Amino acid sequence: MARRDAIVLGAGIVGTSVALHLAKRGLAVALVDRRAPGEETSYGNAGVIEGNTIFPPAFPSDPIALLRVALKRAPEANYHLSFLPQVAPWLMQFRAASRPQRLIETARLMRPLFAHALAEHEALLAEAGATRFLRKQGWLKLYRSRRAFEALKRELALAQEFGIPYRALDADGARELEPSLAPVFRHAVYWERAASVTNPLAVTQAYAARFCALGGVVMRGDARPLRRVNAHWRLEMPEGPIDADHAVVALGPFAPDVLRPLGIALPLGLKRGYHHHYRGTGNAALSRPVVDIENGYCLAPMEQGIRLTTGAEFAARDAPPTPVQFERLLPAARGLFPLGTPLEASPWMGSRPCFPDSRPVIGPAPGQRGLWLAYGHAHWGLTLGAATGRLLAEMMSGATPFCDPAPYAAERFRR
Ligand SMILES: Cc1cc2nc3c(=O)[nH]c(=O)nc-3n(C[C@H](O)[C@H](O)[C@H](O)COP(=O)(O)OP(=O)(O)OC[C@H]3O[C@@H](n4cnc5c(N)ncnc54)[C@H](O)[C@@H]3O)c2cc1C
Repeated sequence: MARRDAIVLGAGIVGTSVALHLAKRGLAVALVDRRAPGEETSYGNAGVIEGNTIFPPAFPSDPIALLRVALKRAPEANYHLSFLPQVAPWLMQFRAASRPQRLIETARLMRPLFAHALAEHEALLAEAGATRFLRKQGWLKLYRSRRAFEALKRELALAQEFGIPYRALDADGARELEPSLAPVFRHAVYWERAASVTNPLAVTQAYAARFCALGGVVMRGDARPLRRVNAHWRLEMPEGPIDADHAVVALGPFAPDVLRPLGIALPLGLKRGYHHHYRGTGNAALSRPVVDIENGYCLAPMEQGIRLTTGAEFAARDAPPTPVQFERLLPAARGLFPLGTPLEASPWMGSRPCFPDSRPVIGPAPGQRGLWLAYGHAHWGLTLGAATGRLLAEMMSGATPFCDPAPYAAERFRR
């Protein structure tokens, strides 16, 4: 039987960052995943390190926007009708958390994590020899209507209060930054302090390699048999069981598969999302991710091509892909940027793991000594991965956490 100080379950960006931070503190750690590091949700995101995020994506308050979603006309969202009864309670909680006052509260509670997001990645990227994947060129959000731009007022006021710099631009100003964009929009906001990576998979792989260089062990295996044996956590592996004082569940959208049998049921919802890579036609190129806000997609330049990512789809995690949002958004995307042919036969699909209050869970599992949770990072798993790794490792090792972890405690769902 192998003994370790900690078993980290899930080698996405979150679990790999936790494992690396634990190894940096001298713990003997096994990082277990059924796939190689970074190949699930953390593979396919838009690569944005959104340290300047203020409000989370919210439930539509505009009845017309809601009607468009209901009629399956909205490019930004889709749903499976058969899944609605299952997701309805989560949607009601998400709607309640989308009230203006609650959004402001969320922005304040999340600020300490977001404020550290980029610096923590920069530190890990440097020690992993992976700084070449980082692009510190901000990101650009585009608004086609004056109404959509004016709806930003509260968010921009809060950005000022938080000391987050941004530049409000017209179409000409935005096209100075991104000359390949067509002037089909009226307004833009340039968030200059955001960063992005050119290959999210390669970043997780680099963190995993650094973890191994520090003596950590990456293992292929199934996390579901995790159980408590006396004072330890035990995971049965093909090579024999591993025992550890600590186990960390960092399984993103798959966390309930392990937690439910242990009696831990937190209100995790999923927002499925897709991406497809395209070549730009001619010399068309982008220097940073660009979001078309009213159409709910992002164009992110990656090593693989221009990655077009979609908004949310409410459907069972394991139901077959239904990438219908591409048909709805492609006319707008092609009008904005000259996309060539898709580079793969079919789009990639992943699931954003989301709690209804748009905050992750980072900290001890309720009622289970030595079990720790790090999941539910929603639209910001890449952004917050490195900061989460540090925060959880500090909590597990008894160090003073760099920020108050209370807003991210699982206990908030028991009150
Ligand atoms: C289209 C899209 C665009 C996005 N864009 C951004 C963005 O620009 N910026 C940003 O910050 N975030 C973005 N996100 C969100 C981000 O990708 C996720 O929040 C993040 O990847 C979650 O990471 P994770 O490590 O928690 O989960 P995962 O990457 O899913 O890791 C969980 C791991 O658990 C493993 N696993 C599952 N079940 C088992 C089992 N039974 N046994 C063993 N291993 C198991 C999986 O193989 C996987 O490797 C986007 C998401 C999507 C879908």
